[in-house]
Amino acid sequence: MTDHLQMLKYIKSDVLSFWVSSNEEQTSYNGYFYSLKQCLKKHLKIDNAAFLSFEGNSLIPIEEMASLTIETKLNAVSWLMIEASFYQQKVVEIPYILKARQAYSKMTDMVLFQVEGKHPIGVLLVEATETWTDFMTSEYGEECIEILSKVLQMIRDNFDVKINEDQYRKLYNMTDLFHSTMDIDLILENVLKNIRDNFPDFNVELILSNDQDRHTTIDIKLFDYLSERPATIEAFVSGELTTELASDLNCRLLNAPIKGRQAIYGILQVSAPTTYLFSTTEKDFVRMLAQASGNALENAKLYHQSHRLVSDLQLINETSHRLNMRIDIHEMLLFLQKQLLKSFQPMEVCFAFKKNDTFEVTGASTSLFSSEEGRTYIKHVEKHFTQTNDPLFIADFSRLTPRQIEYRSIMAIPILMEEKINGFSIVLHKEPYFFSFDSFKLMQSLIHHSSLAIANSILRTQLQEMVDLDHLTKLYARSYLDQFVEKSLEYDQSGMFLLIDIDNFKRINDTYGHQVGDKILVQIAVQLRETIGSRGICARWGGEEMSVYVPNINEKEALELASTIVEIIPSATDPQVTISAGLITWDERDRPAFQSVFLHADTALYEAKNSGKNRFCIHDGSYQTNL
Ligand code: GH3
Ligand code: MG
Ligand code: MG
Repeated sequence: MTDHLQMLKYIKSDVLSFWVSSNEEQTSYNGYFYSLKQCLKKHLKIDNAAFLSFEGNSLIPIEEMASLTIETKLNAVSWLMIEASFYQQKVVEIPYILKARQAYSKMTDMVLFQVEGKHPIGVLLVEATETWTDFMTSEYGEECIEILSKVLQMIRDNFDVKINEDQYRKLYNMTDLFHSTMDIDLILENVLKNIRDNFPDFNVELILSNDQDRHTTIDIKLFDYLSERPATIEAFVSGELTTELASDLNCRLLNAPIKGRQAIYGILQVSAPTTYLFSTTEKDFVRMLAQASGNALENAKLYHQSHRLVSDLQLINETSHRLNMRIDIHEMLLFLQKQLLKSFQPMEVCFAFKKNDTFEVTGASTSLFSSEEGRTYIKHVEKHFTQTNDPLFIADFSRLTPRQIEYRSIMAIPILMEEKINGFSIVLHKEPYFFSFDSFKLMQSLIHHSSLAIANSILRTQLQEMVDLDHLTKLYARSYLDQFVEKSLEYDQSGMFLLIDIDNFKRINDTYGHQVGDKILVQIAVQLRETIGSRGICARWGGEEMSVYVPNINEKEALELASTIVEIIPSATDPQVTISAGLITWDERDRPAFQSVFLHADTALYEAKNSGKNRFCIHDGSYQTNL
């Protein structure tokens, strides 16, 4: 066995041991070079050695590999300048470009470590010794370099795998969480946390495109096309990672698009000092992290969207179902008010309907709208709807009016009846930009779907009024009176019924004509309504006979009221007429039968006529006015 072969064996054994220890200790990337140096010193008497690592087409001193800065890169020797030196062999004389550097001025030889078919690992510079030259020029020199190359390549690959494994584990843990949550805030929070954990010294920002639906608690910046930097916009538009040296901000920016399958939702931006260079692995990590968060965000958004669509449909469905069951317009609007409050959380709600050219606020509105302050909003909305049938969405009302106003978010939807605006609904909130555009669309849908039921209910009320009211006098018709009296006899505590007949009306007709007769009927009706007010109801009994019914009234009051009516009619009519009337009162001690009320009143009226007219008689009481 020659000395050289023996030496090769020693070196092989050393190389084996530092391969093993590199695996066990998982030391830093350049740890292996320290071991290599020891080995060279021990066997080849080399005191002076340096290693330049191959990194992105440059050769970088291994001590500087741990934290790459822009200065290192600028100072690095380009691989292209060195490559030709190794044209024929792997151990060559150090080229001038390296020799010229002070650190390497004593070096004499340069060795290339490269496994065939792969990128170079780096070059070794040594100050040659006799032992070194002797061994390298021997038949085993080349084999030794080949073995070293292979081992260094393995250590390097191993190291990359470890870094990747670490990053993938972090990514995996994060995506694992993403898959288990639909909470957008939690996702955003975790993206920020992960990236901050990895780049603790750098500033990290989430720049998200405008997203009206959400009020997030996470510290994000809104993406603004007008003010964003070109490289940031480029990343957002192209979906590719971009970097920028932002000298004005004194930092280097890395922009990773937060990208899903359907859209790009924003940018994850890392800013490092200007001297820092992001390695390929770091860029890959940020890119993958942004991508994972983009997918998670998209999933969560789609999930929320479909949930919202389902609940929107349910809301509309439930509302139109309920509205179609109900008849009373007031109850209908109260129900709608409840739905609006539940769905959009407004601070104020209003329903107004057209009545003789103006809009009247209904009882299903919140109290603001019956105050002077509320008029401001109603007037604005009214004006809008005189110009167009389109619904109204105002994000910040304070920008549209010089007045001091309290409510800045407004939505107003017209209630249409046969294409014409019959009314409208308004919701208000003090905070500007409170309602989302989705809410606006939903409210439109909701009101639109309710419009028909509302219109039907209004028509029904109008129709009922037509049936209930006498055409000439606008007093209640007989049928309505009957129902009213029947209910009152059952549920109220007391009541009075006054049957009125105009005295000598035939003569009026004969003297002035039927039209004047009609006019007198209307005059009496107006006076009766005014005298009774909301205490009871007035009805046209038939022909020139009218009646008054007042529930919950004692006998004394009833007598006074009857007396007032008989007294006041002559002054309310022109040409003047007097009336006679028959009164009946009752209380709960003796509830009369429905038919007997009318019968007894009629008897009393007959008495009044017979005892001289222009007076009233009370049934059983034989009471007469003292006129
Ligand atoms: P009395 O004091 O006894 O009641 O005398 P009268 O002339 O009022 O007699 P009666 O009550 O029997 O007459 C009813 C008259 O009222 C007959 C009819 O010409 C008139 N009349 C009934 N309905 C209307 C109506 O809608 N318009 C007008 N102008 N006259 C009516
Ligand atoms: Mg009569
Ligand atoms: Mg009469």
